[in-house]
Amino acid sequence: MDFEKLFAEQLDTLRNEGNYRVFAHLERHCGGFPKAKNHGDGAKRDVTVWCSNDYLGMGQHQDVLNAMHETLDKCGAGAGGTRNISGTNHYHVKLEEELADLHGKDAALIFTSGYVSNWASLSTLGARLPNAVIVSDALNHASMIEGMRHAKCPKAIWKHNDPEDLDRVLSDLPANATKIVAFESVYSMDGDIAPIREIVEVAEKHGAMTYLDEVHAVGLYGPRGAGIAEQEGLMDRITLIEGTLGKAYGVMGGYITGSRNLIDFVRSFASGFIFTTAIPPAVAAGATASIKHLKQSDSERMLQRERVAQLRAKLDAAGIPHLPNPSHIVPVMVKDPVKCKQISDILMQDFGIYVQPINYPTVPKGTERLRFTPTPLHTEADIDYLVAALGTLWSQCALARAVA
Ligand SMILES: *Cc1c(COP(=O)(O)O)cnc(C)c1O
Repeated sequence: MDFEKLFAEQLDTLRNEGNYRVFAHLERHCGGFPKAKNHGDGAKRDVTVWCSNDYLGMGQHQDVLNAMHETLDKCGAGAGGTRNISGTNHYHVKLEEELADLHGKDAALIFTSGYVSNWASLSTLGARLPNAVIVSDALNHASMIEGMRHAKCPKAIWKHNDPEDLDRVLSDLPANATKIVAFESVYSMDGDIAPIREIVEVAEKHGAMTYLDEVHAVGLYGPRGAGIAEQEGLMDRITLIEGTLGKAYGVMGGYITGSRNLIDFVRSFASGFIFTTAIPPAVAAGATASIKHLKQSDSERMLQRERVAQLRAKLDAAGIPHLPNPSHIVPVMVKDPVKCKQISDILMQDFGIYVQPINYPTVPKGTERLRFTPTPLHTEADIDYLVAALGTLWSQCALARAVA
């Protein structure tokens, strides 16, 4: 059997479709974010990263670094086991207490990543609850889709961010169904935000539980950074809130929060929680420091908002089309996969600007884009330089300008 040929054939197909992924090979500068060394050009120079999910630069925050250094020196490198067999460290317990407090819930459970938390939790709920049906927003993240697939229970899809359609879908379910409504708050690619209140009201009317992914909102929205549900005063009406420690909190790991029994249920039955090594204590301590800081500090969020508004205003002035949305995500629409990749390559090579092209299948064909995520650490000069570069390329590539 020529296995090499089997691998190569599928990779060739991917390349021919223009969907082959090429990674930017970077080395982040602690203290210099959003700058990073670009090893892709032989590390000849620094680039400005414009597409990081380290939305507030917490990955280099002094409180986070201090906590990680101290805990590394105190506890060593790894957790030493699964949570069940010697791996539950004091710093995991403290992190879970911090997360429960953040979301105003009884308890929390940490996972290796946000992806694993969605996959493990949704699959456990769907597989274990009697007559479970997972009712999913049409644009839910891959990690939730995998969780639903693994749950092997019936599922139903409702139109993206459409509470009326959710109402219709829930009405069609059998009376004895255990309904789980799964959705996100901030959607990562369009940056649009779910009408959480309406969704919760529809779910409550049908006696459904709610499963909310706040991955792109935690740290960023709400008075203590707990997300959109906190901002809207709705946390107590959501059954389960899921989040990540790897985006705005700048470290790594995922989690869920909810009632004592719900968390104990997932802790006790989720294979993706039980049979894997716990995250390193230093990572847990770093995440705890990050959450604590963003609970009491608004300055990072405020400056981020200012930078987002500045980027949008300058794009408008230059006639560069971008998707309007109420979040911190600025998708600049190219609407052509080849040009999208080309612009990204030229920005990197000629301008020292790094933004990853987002093409199909991550977004629908014809909506190819560059997804910018301004942080408090980007300067106004960075924004001016970026918009000038985009202006030049828009003319060179004969792309349509937005009509003012
Ligand atoms: C990134 C992402 C996740 C996964 O979180 P990680 O901590 O990166 O694994 C889950 N849900 C959504 C919507 C995401 O964008």
